[in-house]
Amino acid sequence: MPVSEQMVQEIVKAVMAKMELKAEPTGKKGIFTDMNDAIAAAKEAQKVLRVMSMDQREKIISNIRKKTIENAETLARMGVEETGMGNVGHKILKHRLVAEKTPGTEDITTTAWSGDRGLTLIEMGPFGVIGAITPCTNPSETILCNAIGMIAGGNTVVFNPHPQAIKTSIFTINMINEASLEAGGPDNVACTVEKPTLETSAIMMKHKDIPLIAATGGPGVVTAVLSSGKRGIGAGAGNPPALVDETADIRKAAGDIVNGCTFDNNLPCIAEKEIVAVDSVVDELMHYMVSEQGCYLASKEEQDKLVATVITPKGLNRKCVGRDAKTLLGMIGVTVPDNIRCIVFEGEKEHPLIAEELMMPILGVVRAKDFDDAVEKAVWLEHGNRHSAHIHSKNIDNITKYARAIDTAILVKNAPSYAALGFGGEGYCTFTIASRTGEGLTSASTFTKRRRCVMSDSLCIR
Ligand code: NAD
Repeated sequence: MPVSEQMVQEIVKAVMAKMELKAEPTGKKGIFTDMNDAIAAAKEAQKVLRVMSMDQREKIISNIRKKTIENAETLARMGVEETGMGNVGHKILKHRLVAEKTPGTEDITTTAWSGDRGLTLIEMGPFGVIGAITPCTNPSETILCNAIGMIAGGNTVVFNPHPQAIKTSIFTINMINEASLEAGGPDNVACTVEKPTLETSAIMMKHKDIPLIAATGGPGVVTAVLSSGKRGIGAGAGNPPALVDETADIRKAAGDIVNGCTFDNNLPCIAEKEIVAVDSVVDELMHYMVSEQGCYLASKEEQDKLVATVITPKGLNRKCVGRDAKTLLGMIGVTVPDNIRCIVFEGEKEHPLIAEELMMPILGVVRAKDFDDAVEKAVWLEHGNRHSAHIHSKNIDNITKYARAIDTAILVKNAPSYAALGFGGEGYCTFTIASRTGEGLTSASTFTKRRRCVMSDSLCIR
């Protein structure tokens, strides 16, 4: 029996009546005190979503996109104020990108075989309620991107956001539910708890109603999710090297690399974190970066002070992550004009500011004796994350050799890293790049189960 609009509305009403019993302490939609209640509410919402037509799902998604664009500045400011990381102007662009280029229901497709023995389809069905863990580096961007893809796939989602970005995350999740309700969908398509902790995360990971977990963050969280016994999508850390060979347009490479590296103060996991350049072009590259691209060349003494400031015995100094170059230099007593946007220096690949994934506009340049040496150094620096890498070269054989050796989910050629997100490059946007588990750039179809539907000896009408 086809599901009519009226039937859907009746189910929505019945489920909502049931949900009114649940207290939402903040007065915001989708926000609960207890993780178990958040999961229960998302489960009820998924019962509604699964009977809605694709067209109705798309209406919810269109409204999430519209509200994201309307609130791009608010979300960008909240993220920067709450976490202390990033750049408001760049974050506005990131929110527009999420709204405009994250795939929706068009990503949910059917494969069909029709022949003498009938008709067989592979269809993409929802998992149900997905558990999602999100980072503080792109808090609202990741929540919006995950929610659009997961809802397009017919799922609802429970988030355990980074505690340092909880206000921004709550604002975003409330906005997603308002968008759903306005578009005739259910409340609680996205849920979370007021105070996310490792305990709430553990409840989510073990819960019987969570069949899939998508983790976006550093190595710790991806390992935790992959040890949970559930299916996990692991979008982990990177340390993307930008390789420059002698065939590149060196002046353009300098501009592209610094633009990518400084975007949102280097917070994106795909952003250039270090350069490996062949010996013959290092000096020219450095010249353009310093004279034309607002880079500050740090002395040995300044590099040592930066190491002592940004890296602590417990790991990265969170007060430095996502800060701009002027602020970082100010922390070591160096005053620079406002046009300085990146810190550069030449060093060995083992230099802590080069080998570590810093998420700050600090770019060490490693000198390689030739292309093969450059590839070897870049592969070492990527640490087997298989996440992202970049190359500036006009030699197709070199590009191919590098691509095969580094084997990353993303490889950008002759452009800033953000071209990989569809910003100045072709293709769709995502903020969850499943480097570790191999799905690559996630989209709605990643969050679905494949189902084979077989009609034997009928419905082939050729
Ligand atoms: P983080 O690892 O500190 O935190 C990410 C999330 O995981 C947070 O919600 C945090 O509370 C949670 N978490 C951390 N350890 C956990 C554990 N043991 N169990 C359960 N939950 C845990 O990362 P961050 O600083 O918020 O983000 C930066 C990191 O994320 C970088 O390493 C960056 O490369 C990576 N990242 C990857 C992608 C990607 O798509 N691959 C996207 C963004 C960020």
